[in-house]
Parts: sequence; structure tokens; C-alpha cells
Amino acid sequence: MKVDAAMILKIPLLKEHLDDDVLWHYDKRGEYSVKSGYQLALRMKFPNAPSSLESMSQYWSALWSLELPEKIKIFMWRASNNLLPSTENMWKRKVIQEPTCQICRKSIESISHALLEYKAAKSIWLQSPFTVPSFKDHSQDIFSILQGMANELRKADLELMVALCWAVWFSRNKFIFEGKKIALNISTAKAKSILDAFQRVRKTYPSHIAYSSGEKLQKWIPPPPRKCLQS
Ligand SMILES: [Zn+2]
Repeated sequence: MKVDAAMILKIPLLKEHLDDDVLWHYDKRGEYSVKSGYQLALRMKFPNAPSSLESMSQYWSALWSLELPEKIKIFMWRASNNLLPSTENMWKRKVIQEPTCQICRKSIESISHALLEYKAAKSIWLQSPFTVPSFKDHSQDIFSILQGMANELRKADLELMVALCWAVWFSRNKFIFEGKKIALNISTAKAKSILDAFQRVRKTYPSHIAYSSGEKLQKWIPPPPRKCLQS
């Protein structure tokens, strides 16, 4: 729409005088908050990652809606929040003396290293239809990496990606804690078989998956009030 001088003159002015003010234009109300500052810092650090709050919530709702066993979805939630017990995380919590990867002994074992980067993990991802971004900065936010990988995947592909992450972590644990080496094709097959078995059972017995023990959920009722103790 063309705005001419006559239209501008018709715009009513405020009767009261207001001083100029500083506004934070990354927030709808113009107010700075730690949350909006954090979101801006993430976008500046990882400009290619879809890091808005909206896409972050989309990631979580996509994750929880997957047709996968709950333990795998909870595993992925922990991985995305950097809560898995990688050697780096254990070292940060002073549980172990050094953060070096116990498998390759060449690098700090961040979660990105354990799930995506060390040799066996890399080979599994190379055989998969998914692209793992190359990254050299080990401090890179694992959430951004996983969210970037999951972005724009169809539900079935996202289910396979999450199942593969779990299978990589499972084979890592088998090797570290039991000294057992799982062949790459076995890890991939394990992820696919878990996926297939769960979805087959879900189609056949949907109520058994909804209530894993087969019991109906009971409505919580408060306990009866305690009687006063007489002294
Ligand atoms: Zn390693």
C-alpha cells in the first residue's frame, strides 16, 4: 500500500508524552529474558540448526509420538539432553579420572562421539540412509546435532534413526562392560528388529502397548485424612 503525506498526517498522535525506551526486538513484548537471550545465542552459534523454541518443541513432540518402546524414547530424551553416562559426563561429575573414550582412546567421549563419531558408530551410520554432520568441535550441543539430523525426516525414518542411536549405545555398553564386540550388521539388524517387533505387536494388541502391564490406568485418589494422635 502506498503511503502518502496526507495519510501520515491522518495518523493520530499520542496526547501524552512518552520517553524513548530500549526494546529487545527478539521478544514479542520487547522485553529481554534469559530464555530469549539463550535462544539468540544458540542461533548465533549454530546458524544452520533449527533452534527456535517452536522447532525445539516440535522435536520433542515428534520424539514422544514415535512408535517405539518407551525405554528407547527415554534413552533418546536423555541423549538429546546430554544426560547419558558418557565418559565425559562421568568425568564432569568426578565419577572417573579422565574423559577419554574407553574404546578408541583417541578422543574425549562426548555423547556425539559415542553415538555418531567413533569408528564403529561411523560405520553403522554410513550403512544407514542418514547423514551425520561432520563436526570437529566436541563441545557442540548434542541437541542441535540430533535435532538437525531429525529435521524433516518422515516419522518412519525418524523411528529408525532413534532405534539406530539406541543400538549404537547398546553395542558401546556391551563392549565396555562385557568386553563383547557386536558386529555392525548385527547392531543395524537389532535396531530394525526392535522397530518391526514393536510395531507388529502394536498393530495386533494396541491396548497391551498402551498399558504395558496389561492393567488399566487407575485414577489417583488422595489417601484418607489421618486421625489426630491423642497425647
Ligand atoms: Zn572413541
